[in-house]
Amino acid sequence: MKYLFEPIPVVSLAIAGRVERFPVRRVYCVGRNYVEHAKEMGFSGREPPFFFLKPADAVVTGDAGATLGVPYPSLTKSLHHEIELVVAIGTGGRNIPAAEAERHIFGYAVGLDMTRRDLQNDMKKQGRPWEIGKAFDRSAPVGVVTPASEAGAVARAEISLSVNGEARQRSDLSKLIWNIGETIEHLSAAWELAPGDLIFTGTPEGVAAVVQDDLLVGQVTGLQPLRVQIT
Ligand code: MN
Repeated sequence: MKYLFEPIPVVSLAIAGRVERFPVRRVYCVGRNYVEHAKEMGFSGREPPFFFLKPADAVVTGDAGATLGVPYPSLTKSLHHEIELVVAIGTGGRNIPAAEAERHIFGYAVGLDMTRRDLQNDMKKQGRPWEIGKAFDRSAPVGVVTPASEAGAVARAEISLSVNGEARQRSDLSKLIWNIGETIEHLSAAWELAPGDLIFTGTPEGVAAVVQDDLLVGQVTGLQPLRVQIT
């Protein structure tokens, strides 16, 4: 077989302590999964989980310790940070019960669901799809994947984000409205999960705008930090 042109290479994430890389298939994101963030967006926080996707080639990656460059995107005047725990699926499946979700997880990473908030809000108001606000180029920086066996108690880990050294978001994974297992249960009822899928599990309160040259450092206890510079 011969392609008309060279296919775009598969996006892959570095894995802590491994030579192999984690090839990315799809990027699923959960909306409003912390009560305080749902409230700051004008909702009660009691709704069932809902999902959106970003293209796999929106993922920005690098090796351990790297500062990832994210260019300030076009069209927006309100580029927001959303720090999130990212689940890396190692074993696929459909209709996965929450109690069995753990064995489908390869590992975890820190991610940023970068959002053109003004465009997302316009689309929400009009009842239109969110892609222009959420699924733009280089909108999904993700750090190094730590295998689940080495990540510690992620379900109760602290999650935080600083911008230029100043604290912006701080919460705890135990505050997820839908925990990791429940999220996988709901998601796998709607789509068949496959190895290489990433799940952004939602952001806590404190989302705000960034500007060019800002340095964002995201952390989840037990995982490698994510460093992003807006260029
Ligand atoms: Mn998000």
